Amino acid sequence: MMYYPWQRNQWQMLDGLIEMDRLPHAMMLCGPAYIGKQQFASVLAGRLLCEKPQAGFACGNCKQCLLLAAKTHPDLLWLLPEEEGKAIRIDPIRSLGQFVSKTALQRGRKVVVISPAESMNLNAANALLKNLEEPAPGTHVILVSHEPSRLPATVRSRCRMITFPVPPLSEVENWLTQVSGKKENLSELMDYAGGRPLLALQLLESDLLENRRTFERLLDDVAVGAMNPIAAAEKCLSSPSVMTVDWLYSRVATQVRNAGAMGASPLQFRFLDKLVQVKSRLLSSANPNASLLWEELMMDWQRLTR
Ligand SMILES: [Zn+2]
Repeated sequence: MMYYPWQRNQWQMLDGLIEMDRLPHAMMLCGPAYIGKQQFASVLAGRLLCEKPQAGFACGNCKQCLLLAAKTHPDLLWLLPEEEGKAIRIDPIRSLGQFVSKTALQRGRKVVVISPAESMNLNAANALLKNLEEPAPGTHVILVSHEPSRLPATVRSRCRMITFPVPPLSEVENWLTQVSGKKENLSELMDYAGGRPLLALQLLESDLLENRRTFERLLDDVAVGAMNPIAAAEKCLSSPSVMTVDWLYSRVATQVRNAGAMGASPLQFRFLDKLVQVKSRLLSSANPNASLLWEELMMDWQRLTR
């Protein structure tokens, strides 16, 4: 397994530190979701545990690598939420303490990956802090975080921050074409994906891209008066609503960005606020009337574009 092409700088930096035996005990890989931080953590763990790394990479053949491939390496611990979106609780973090305190079964190094780190609840984060304050020799804790600001400052300050920005299109283009086998309008696609390559790939491999295009055309039609908001609202009912609200948000946000701080109208900002509220209502257990909701949003949109 390899890191992604847009992660070369981060890799070279860490690889250099490994060569000098100066890799920090605690690292936080931070950056937006869908840019491959978790895979990077996995490749890094492989590099640290492999017996005979070749040209800076896990060899793939030694005993350690085979254990890794079978996902049974005793010196690698992944801590993930039990379910996506759920918290990482204190018990797994306590098991980390036991994991760290026993001797490495294989080559002396041990690796812990926590992802996404911000899903640790406060008790879990405090329990982790103990491990970060008194690092066990040979142990590396890799935290993967989409939103480091949601973690206590005490945890962040103990970690070397490794930042993964949204990569430029030029570094994603070849990869995306190769992996998907599709030649698409990549700048449109990356725009929809907010520049995040793995999300772009998901869009390419699903109907989402086409759905999004349809929705954008719908917005255009309402804006120029070719379709009335009520008819447009009806067409919105068939797609997953939270995502469609996101699309509408990003359309308005782009308008605001293009208009600049002075050019944007208060109406636009109010609409963005409203969309945030609508989204949280949709995500909560409340079950709003979708057709009323979309009629309202489409009428707002029409007013905004007049
Ligand atoms: Zn190996």
